[in-house]
Amino acid sequence: MDTIKYNSVNSDPNACPKKGVLKQTNRVDLTSRPRLQILSSPVLRSGPVSVAKPSKHLFNSVFDGVAHPNKAALSLKAKPNLKQLWLPPGVSGRIYDSPKTLVAASQAPQASQTRGGGEGPAVKLKNLLSESVKRESKLVTGRLDNGMEYVILPNKLPPKRFEAHLEIHAGSVDEQPDEQGMAHLVEHVTFLGSRKRENLLGTGARANAYTDFHHTVFHVHAPLTGSVGENMIPRVLEALREVAFEPQFLEERIEKERKAVTAEAQMMNTIEYRVDCQLLQFLHAENNLSCRFPIGHMDQVQRWTREQLLKFWGKWYFPANATLYLVGDFERDAKDVVSWVNDCFGRIPAPRVGSPLPSATFSPSDMAASWISKRAEGGSKASSLFTSLMGGGANSGGAGAGGQNTAANAAEGNVATPPLKTKHSVRPPVEHLFGYGSLAPATAVPSQVPISVFRHPLLQQFMLTLFCKLPIQPMTRMGDLRVLLMLRIILSVFQFRINGRYVQADPPFQAISLDVSDSSREGCAVSTLTITAEPSGWAGAVRVAVEESRRVQQHGLTEGELSRYLQAILRDSSQLAGQADKIPSIDTLNFVMEGLSCGHVVMSHRDAHEALLKVAETVTLSDVNALCRSVMAFAAFYGQEEELVQEAAGNPAAFAGLGPTRCTSVVACLPAYVDNEGHSISQGAVSGRGANLNPASGHLDADTIDLEQIKSQMKQQEEQEAKAAPPGARTFDLPSEEIIKALRADGLTVTPPLDIELPSVLLSDKEVAELVLSRRPSFAPVRVGTRSMVHPSTCPNTGVVQRRLANGIYVNYRHTDNEPSGGLIRVLFNGGRLAEKVGAAADGFGAVAVGVRALSESGAVGRWSREQVEMFCVSNLVNCALDSDEENIVLDVHFVVDNGGMKSAFQFLHLFLDQPVWDDHAVTRAKAAFLTGQKLTQKSLERASVERVMSAMLGPDRCFRDPTPEELQALTLDGIKQRLSSLMHTGNMEVEVVGDFDPRQLEEYLLTYLGTVRPQPSPLPITSHPLKFRNPPRPERHQRWHLQDSDERACAYIGGRAPVRWGPINGLAGANHLGVINTSSITPSAIAASLERDAQPLGPLVGSVLPPVGEKAIMTNATRQAVTAARRAHPLFRSVILGLLAEIINSRLFTTVRDTLGLTYDVDFETTMFDRIRYSWFMVHVTSHPSQIEAALNASASVLRDVAAQPISRHELLRAKTTLLTRHDSDLKDNNYWIGLLSHLQNPLVPHKVLDCLRDLKAMYECATVEDVSLLYAQFDLRDDAIFTCVGTSGSKNPLEAATK
Ligand SMILES: [Zn+2]
Repeated sequence: MDTIKYNSVNSDPNACPKKGVLKQTNRVDLTSRPRLQILSSPVLRSGPVSVAKPSKHLFNSVFDGVAHPNKAALSLKAKPNLKQLWLPPGVSGRIYDSPKTLVAASQAPQASQTRGGGEGPAVKLKNLLSESVKRESKLVTGRLDNGMEYVILPNKLPPKRFEAHLEIHAGSVDEQPDEQGMAHLVEHVTFLGSRKRENLLGTGARANAYTDFHHTVFHVHAPLTGSVGENMIPRVLEALREVAFEPQFLEERIEKERKAVTAEAQMMNTIEYRVDCQLLQFLHAENNLSCRFPIGHMDQVQRWTREQLLKFWGKWYFPANATLYLVGDFERDAKDVVSWVNDCFGRIPAPRVGSPLPSATFSPSDMAASWISKRAEGGSKASSLFTSLMGGGANSGGAGAGGQNTAANAAEGNVATPPLKTKHSVRPPVEHLFGYGSLAPATAVPSQVPISVFRHPLLQQFMLTLFCKLPIQPMTRMGDLRVLLMLRIILSVFQFRINGRYVQADPPFQAISLDVSDSSREGCAVSTLTITAEPSGWAGAVRVAVEESRRVQQHGLTEGELSRYLQAILRDSSQLAGQADKIPSIDTLNFVMEGLSCGHVVMSHRDAHEALLKVAETVTLSDVNALCRSVMAFAAFYGQEEELVQEAAGNPAAFAGLGPTRCTSVVACLPAYVDNEGHSISQGAVSGRGANLNPASGHLDADTIDLEQIKSQMKQQEEQEAKAAPPGARTFDLPSEEIIKALRADGLTVTPPLDIELPSVLLSDKEVAELVLSRRPSFAPVRVGTRSMVHPSTCPNTGVVQRRLANGIYVNYRHTDNEPSGGLIRVLFNGGRLAEKVGAAADGFGAVAVGVRALSESGAVGRWSREQVEMFCVSNLVNCALDSDEENIVLDVHFVVDNGGMKSAFQFLHLFLDQPVWDDHAVTRAKAAFLTGQKLTQKSLERASVERVMSAMLGPDRCFRDPTPEELQALTLDGIKQRLSSLMHTGNMEVEVVGDFDPRQLEEYLLTYLGTVRPQPSPLPITSHPLKFRNPPRPERHQRWHLQDSDERACAYIGGRAPVRWGPINGLAGANHLGVINTSSITPSAIAASLERDAQPLGPLVGSVLPPVGEKAIMTNATRQAVTAARRAHPLFRSVILGLLAEIINSRLFTTVRDTLGLTYDVDFETTMFDRIRYSWFMVHVTSHPSQIEAALNASASVLRDVAAQPISRHELLRAKTTLLTRHDSDLKDNNYWIGLLSHLQNPLVPHKVLDCLRDLKAMYECATVEDVSLLYAQFDLRDDAIFTCVGTSGSKNPLEAATK
């Protein structure tokens, strides 16, 4: 895939403090570890890893929550993650389409149960379940005369913008043995070689492309009108036409992209990626998916000629093999859009069967002659995956292509012309062995599949994955929907029970997750159970997983569990239905694409909700439990298929549909070495897929994987393993037989589950009344400008309301309808890790980080247990996440306004703030998690390299690093508690609320629940870490290091000091307060002095903030000077300009280092944006092959320095402005963004962030000038002895040693 990634920097000046560029500061990245959210509601997000996200982005959060194998390394921002299954809109989350027969049988018990009571209800039910679901009425589909299909769907968000995706139905499975990687290379050459596509940049459009097993997709996101008011839809369509059907295939471009693809392969080849390849290879051992990973073969990629690429292109790129998707706010009738599509694509000639090959002297002008395919069609089987769009799900039985062929060949009577070439006739089939049915050897997988083992020195944890492949069942009828609903409930309950076990487990496991989902990419549905643990604790983890699977399989759910989760899902669905107009086009498009390719009926959110309400009434515990017996069998009774099949034969009604499911493959990913006690050693990156330890995703992202490479790696790795183990380590010896024994768990019987008492409220009316009476909550005066008022009215410019509670809490809120009936509360406490004491002590270094995590893991509040609180939050759709960063402790609470949801959220908040519950076990688990994290850092190429730059820059004992084992050891429960309670109190706290609430009700809850939090007598002053930039000797300033590994990778970082975001410009080198710049006075020592002035505490904001005024061509010098001075005196000045500068530098880095020089696939520049810390730094990150990394580093440094020689042009600035302003506009539809805007508005420690900043944000972008940006740029000292670099390489050969020999 290509990531045309200009905009990776979080350069928004008002971004939420959490969102900054913290990853560069190497804080402990909690999100990358297993993390039991206190109150994650499994209904909203599956799996124990759960970071709260607005439910509006449920689809997104499904994507984000999933461990994209290469996400960390690639930041594939623009790439939709299609592996996630299509979901009927109402049943949000991770749902699976079960085989058809499951549906049929799940109706059977119902019918038989009601038989006694007459035929009436049973027949009614049967009729309801066989009813077709309602298709989205706005969806327009059709086919042009040349066979190209189109799908058009109006979608209001973001307004005046649209998505256009052109999908070519060809991917890596279509490649011949000597074409491995060709689909991807052709994607690169066609996409990047298009001038029209390139010309879209700067209009506010973004374009990208990707290749997977079955598809090549080119996509564009664009505004409806261009900069001169032109209609952008035809323009974008023309660009897509040029990309797909009129490519030039210039030799120069081909060479460039060979390099880019090689770099891409290089950088993505992390250990997580390799684990994914392994999983995919074993999962699909019986078909081509296991040996046609999209990235292909690099030695082949180097060799292909232009003619070979052209041939591939000619074979697959023709109108009837393409589908165009248009989703967006068209502001026109769909008919107009259809006519534009026809105008643009209709004239592309349709190739006929047997037409000639493209000539070797191909040029765009002989287009007409070159639509062809070399192979005669017919005969080969079509994948059942590709059902006709027009036929909808109706012809789902696998005859998809057949029907279409007939349609296209209707003119066959006309013998003279051969029929038009059609969509799938030449595709190689992908056939799966499914995990159900009889045990006959020919038709089924073996009755006890062997354990496939992947062992690697870089793996650190034990990870076992059980797969069960099933056919995709198109979602077309109410009965299908009902099965989805029941499955969702089962998955949620399973996860809830696992969470309970997680807390008690000894030895602890890291994660156990179950996922059931389908994938159009892989053409099947997959159930996955993933178990992750420390190597020494593997057996205990497997036992918990088998036990809980067996408990669900044998005893099913309790009545209480069923009703609670059913209610929660319906409430969630109702909220989603209310947000029907608030789903961004890109999400809608992914949803439609995935849905159609699986043969699902695409439904509107409202219809889906209605339908869900109907089928929910028919769900019974016995039906759910029958489904449990079928779905969970593969995990509960590995190796005991025989008995299960017999059991099902004797009592078919006890099972749903297919009967018991069976394992189709089991993969164990194991560390090669452990320490002498059997624990993991610092020898690995992360375990498995891995990076996010959220194996719940079920499917593998198969994007770009290379099997041959893996094979050679395995060989290398064996060689490596044959070498002596690292010091202090021994081989992790775990024979497959032991895993088999643990999985079979012969003789293990499980007891039925117990129901938990669910509190209906956390605080009774009586308790609340007593609280109010004794604590007498009230509002206190707020400072507005120079005055103080108790109830200042809504700010007319920004819609923000400011309050302060008498116990000290600052409150900013704003009503938005971004998520109808949804809301978000953020509680911020000043002083995150900034407030940790230096050194090892009971309350010493690491206390905040560990404490916050421990609180998060404990999860209990007041008199309620963790399970009760979790259940309460699940039922009331309250979702919380607690985290700390350098400057803040942050608690996010997502809630639903209706049905008491907001009240529930505030009740929880009150108890959390007033009566938190500390738990020694939680502290122990938190420490263990940090220890693991530290090991990971040491052996991750990227993280360890950043660590080195930071240490050289700020000292080895600098703040914000991971606590050492000694520091962790020294921390005690009491010490941590003391440290955190000195921060988490009302005098050090602000609350931001954004959402669709009634302001009066909100104020009432603020008073009742937050106003009654007991204030603490004397807040301790916040400890502040001493921060000092160092001037180390050269070898420490420019470091090189090597990680021994079987694979060759490399990354490099450039860091250095940067100006801070808040502060007047008269601290800047070369600038005076009148806005006059004197560049000759900008010398290294002047820069150093200005950065030192930056580091001084920020004084109060003086005078009133005036809105900026743009400079005009006709303006007297005096006026111009005044306007400039006023703009530069604005508190937002530095933030805005730093954002623009980062945008411009990123654009240059991309064009030069990646596109022109082909030295990298990924490069970016970021600066920290701290609010209170008076230091800032920048960081450039670039990856490449070890042989090219020095060149990539030097090229990146040159780009940074060249800004001085090649000044920023007005055009560049304009483009950066358009990008940032566009992003700002669309982000305003996001509650999270608003929370970031509101943060610190009244915070006395961030005195320059005031309401006027929000008012002027857009105007500040618009008014920025080239001189402004140059002024900020001049503050960066980029000389060799001012910057810090680190190059990390990995591979079996150490280039550093080679150099010295
Ligand atoms: Zn690519």
